[in-house]
Amino acid sequence: MADVIQLLPDSIANQIAAGEVIQRPASVVKELMENSVDAGSKNIKLIVKDAGRTLIQVIDDGCGMSETDARMSFERHATSKIRSADDLFAIRTMGFRGEALASIASVAQVELRTRRHASEVGTLIQAEGSKVKSQEPCQTAAGTSFAVKNLFFNVPARRNFLKANTVEFRHILDEFERIVLANADVFFSLHHNGSEVFHLPPGNLRQRILGVFGNAVNTRLVPVVEETDIIQIKGFVGKPEFAKKVRGEQYFFVNSRFIKSSYLHHAVMSAYEEVLPKEMYPFYLLFLDIDPARIDVNVHPTKQEIKFEDDRLVYNYLKVAVRHGLGQHGVMPSLDFEQ
Ligand code: ADP
Ligand code: MG
Repeated sequence: MADVIQLLPDSIANQIAAGEVIQRPASVVKELMENSVDAGSKNIKLIVKDAGRTLIQVIDDGCGMSETDARMSFERHATSKIRSADDLFAIRTMGFRGEALASIASVAQVELRTRRHASEVGTLIQAEGSKVKSQEPCQTAAGTSFAVKNLFFNVPARRNFLKANTVEFRHILDEFERIVLANADVFFSLHHNGSEVFHLPPGNLRQRILGVFGNAVNTRLVPVVEETDIIQIKGFVGKPEFAKKVRGEQYFFVNSRFIKSSYLHHAVMSAYEEVLPKEMYPFYLLFLDIDPARIDVNVHPTKQEIKFEDDRLVYNYLKVAVRHGLGQHGVMPSLDFEQ
């Protein structure tokens, strides 16, 4: 009998990987914007048409790429962010898997324009379904622009699975909001079908929160600040009287990365115990900063889950931090703490 195992061509391997990372237009938004943040950009513009079906474009003023790097960026497992296995325990960037661009290019038509600040000319690359169609020098602003057109043009099942435009755009807004909230010092804007939806000048965290949720939330915010050798916690929680019956305004960021954690959510809820009726959810937006060696972000391709070396410890610190915040701001009687 002849042997039957073959290595898959890159284009197919990339499409399989894309199935995990690129589920809908919002996933493209997340990956492109995270790349712009990692590139040190101070100004990031997102342009969307038809809820991302026909166009998702991210324009940044970050470091840009050389001609060779621009070409390399579409290869799978190609990254400038880690070099060795040890680096996996010291991750400070949003990306490190080197998979996003290869995945996106395998299921869409992509136009990349990029120029490093020190270069006179930039590079224009057109790619489609994992194939680079053309590469040429071009005049372009310093930084990078990725335009992703006709997402899932070659994956009808995925295209048909997409929900109504309002739903897909809501997902895009969710990703956009998470990134802008984690990067208050960066200028962001969002345009949908030709009109500007967000215009967010750089500022502090409170200003950014107001920019996203509206000025009315200003008086509802209670600051939280707690620092130990192991973890730094800062951000805001909402006054209990403004808690809502529906979830959705709860945010954790670990080392600037938005994550979901029912365990940490429980820690915050337990801090509110006496002051919140059951099944009411307070606003919270909390940044946890922790030595990257103490967490594992490589749990899931979309990186929305992480593992802590000692999650009970994090739970307890978080609960104490929120209680302190609420106590100090007269929301609940100041309680005695061990520290
Ligand atoms: P990862 O972010 O995990 O490294 P990606 O596939 O998202 O992988 O990107 C591959 C590489 O392309 C990045 O490591 C980076 O060097 C480069 N790159 C991508 N987007 C940009 C950008 N907006 N500006 C500068 N470099 C970029
Ligand atoms: Mg990336």
